[in-house]
Order: sequence, then C-alpha cells, then structure tokens
Amino acid sequence: MSRELPQGAEENGRNLPLDAHLHTDLSPDSDVPIDVYAALALENGISELAITDHVDFDKRDPAYDYTSFEQRERTVRDAAERWAPRGVLIRFGAELTFNRSWEGDLRAHLGRHRYDFTIGSVHDWPDSPYVPTRARTWASGRSLGDALAPYLAEITAAAGSGLFDTIGHLDVVRRYLHASFTAGEIFGAVELFDPALRALVESGTALEVNTSGYRHPSGEAYPGPPLVARYRELGGRRVTAGSDSHRAHHFAWGLEAGYRVLAEAGFTALTFRRGADRTAIGIPDRLRRPRDADGST
Ligand SMILES: [Zn+2]
Ligand SMILES: [Zn+2]
Repeated sequence: MSRELPQGAEENGRNLPLDAHLHTDLSPDSDVPIDVYAALALENGISELAITDHVDFDKRDPAYDYTSFEQRERTVRDAAERWAPRGVLIRFGAELTFNRSWEGDLRAHLGRHRYDFTIGSVHDWPDSPYVPTRARTWASGRSLGDALAPYLAEITAAAGSGLFDTIGHLDVVRRYLHASFTAGEIFGAVELFDPALRALVESGTALEVNTSGYRHPSGEAYPGPPLVARYRELGGRRVTAGSDSHRAHHFAWGLEAGYRVLAEAGFTALTFRRGADRTAIGIPDRLRRPRDADGST
C-alpha cells in the first residue's frame, strides 16, 4: 500500500538539534544501550538527546520497578559525561505514564526525584477499553466522540495537571482505534481534542510531536498536523519533538518530518528544559516554511 508521507518521514533524521524522546535498555520494551544512541547522534548530527525511559505506577505494568531511579540517573549522567566532550549532549528525562487513579503516586515521585525533562503520556490502565483484544468490539456501534471519551478524559487531566514539561503522543488513541475510525475521520472532528489542547495552553505544558506514528499504519505523527495547527490556533506556543525510538534503527526516525509538521503550523522553536533552565531550541531554517510574500507569517 502506498502512502503519501511527508519528506523525511521514512528516514533517520540528520543534522537536527534535539531528539527529546528515546528509550534505552532501561525500559522493558527497548534493547538499546545508551552509548548506541550517543554514537548514532554523533554520526548523524543530532546535537542533544533526552533519554526518557518508562516510569509506570501500575504494579502489573512491565515497566513498574523495572529499574530504580538511582540506576537510571547514574547511567544517563555517566553517559552524559562521557559524550559531552565529543559534542553530544545527553539529558536525564523520563516518560511517566499518567492515569487519574495513580496521579497521587506520580506527583509524589516527581516531588522526590529531579529530572531534566519530563514527558507525561497516557498508555494503558486497568479496565482501559483500548487493549488490542477488545478495542474493536468495544468501539463498534459507538460514535467517534464516545469511542474517544475515556482516552480524552485521561489525556485532558494529564495536560492540565501541570506535572510535565510535555505531553507525549497526544492522539495515540488513533492507533488503538484504527480498525474502527480512520485518521481522516478523527482529524475531521479535531474539536473533540479542544479540551486537552486548551488544558495544555492553560497549564503551560508543551505539545510533543512524536514521530513513531510514521512507523504505524496511519503514517502520521502523533498528534497529526490538524491537531498541531489547532493547538497553535488555541494559543499553544510550546512544542517538543521526539522519535520515541525503542530500537537502534529507529533513532531519530521521521524526526525531520516531525520538525516540518511544527514549522508548517507556524512554530519556529522547540521548548526544552535542561533541569532548572527552560530553553528555546530553534527549528533549523532549512525546515521552516518560506515567509509569506508580505512577511506576515
Ligand atoms: Zn509512550
Ligand atoms: Zn515512549
């Protein structure tokens, strides 16, 4: 099946300032030692990496207590020291799975531990209807709004919590519902995501463009371009971008296309945090849309 993919969607990004979402072998679903990413970053001209291994709060999740905070911090900080002299900057981050039922535990974790950069994501939760074995049956006969509702309730709470620097793969629910609703149907009802996008704007949380979507059947980043544009329309100004790589060959995969989605929506920089410092990282000129003839972009 041929898909129309944006330029850079089917290749590893090169000469980009930041990949802000990466899983190493400190996540149960990745097998990549941190030095492999660092070497690839050096080779491909990716200047800065955020290592964002999974932190989960549901005891049944494979990532629950898979590693300790101390082990993750030591591994990432040691690698940062080894690679900084060679020009690769490595930040200690985490991707924390959000659910309202364990929000208290998550808040306590972030109160005890300091990260350079945090991503809040909604994945699975007890009784979630989006597990592959039952999502299709569950969604059949439901309207799009009803099928999205349980996910939107969680992601809107995550966005409004103020706990995170950015929200990961905001419309990843498309992946769970792909047998029931097309990306086009979901993008045609973009206003269903307004509460989540407004919560981001109000809490000052960034929107991540996650390019793992280019590896999935729908062939769009998470979130897709209509949601990125809508976020900006609603006043959103903070964005990040990451490949969400779990394998060496996915390092910075589609990342250039992800940057283009942001540039296309009118963003000129990413908002990143390096511990105490929040910083703007410019989107390279070559990816920015040409200025309108009257200069009013
Ligand atoms: Zn995730
Ligand atoms: Zn991830």
